Amino acid sequence: MDVGAEAAAELMKHRPCPHCGARARMEEDSELRWVCGVCGGPRVPVEDEAAHSDREREELVKAGRAKKMAFTYRIASIGLSLMGALLAALGVALGAVSVAVGAVLLVAAVAGIVMGIVYGRRAHGKREEAKKSTFEAWESVAEALLKVRGSEATAEQIAREMRTTVADVERMMSFLSVDNRVRIVVKDTELVYTTEAEAAAIEAQAIMESEEEDVDATHTAGADARRR
Ligand SMILES: [Zn+2]
Repeated sequence: MDVGAEAAAELMKHRPCPHCGARARMEEDSELRWVCGVCGGPRVPVEDEAAHSDREREELVKAGRAKKMAFTYRIASIGLSLMGALLAALGVALGAVSVAVGAVLLVAAVAGIVMGIVYGRRAHGKREEAKKSTFEAWESVAEALLKVRGSEATAEQIAREMRTTVADVERMMSFLSVDNRVRIVVKDTELVYTTEAEAAAIEAQAIMESEEEDVDATHTAGADARRR
């Protein structure tokens, strides 16, 4: 863990975990980015209180539940697969003594292995569900951060506030812009992000200014014509 991550982990001690309520430090997670150091539930490490919302909380709680279910399914999958393998070995060994007993054991072994695969798939599905809900929570915080700022922000600025990578922010912003929740604007050859409301206000301002310029130009042209 680098110094920045260490500081972020310390920082979030002040905010209670939405899963277990503990004011605990956070840990980096390969799948869910940041998780509670006590219960392992996913979290979003942003300082600004105004960026946190009920939506974020709901998605994090959903993700936390999915993560727990994924764990349960994974244990069941491993248990059933192991049982299947043992029954298969036993079936082969006893098959030499009694074909009937061997056949029954092999059928049970196949059933165990098949169920192991089914539970393995369910575990994978729940892990994906946990990731999806976690990302939804992050996106809602990213959107709220832009609202709180009330001005454009670069991917670097948001990445710093959210303790994540620039690539991650760019991915979030492209999803948010598809949903019309965030506007991507090119400013001085750089991509910046802003809320839809802010973008609309800037556009209205630009139109007003260009109209004023047109009026000024007409006045100047009129004055020039009179002078001639
Ligand atoms: Zn927790």
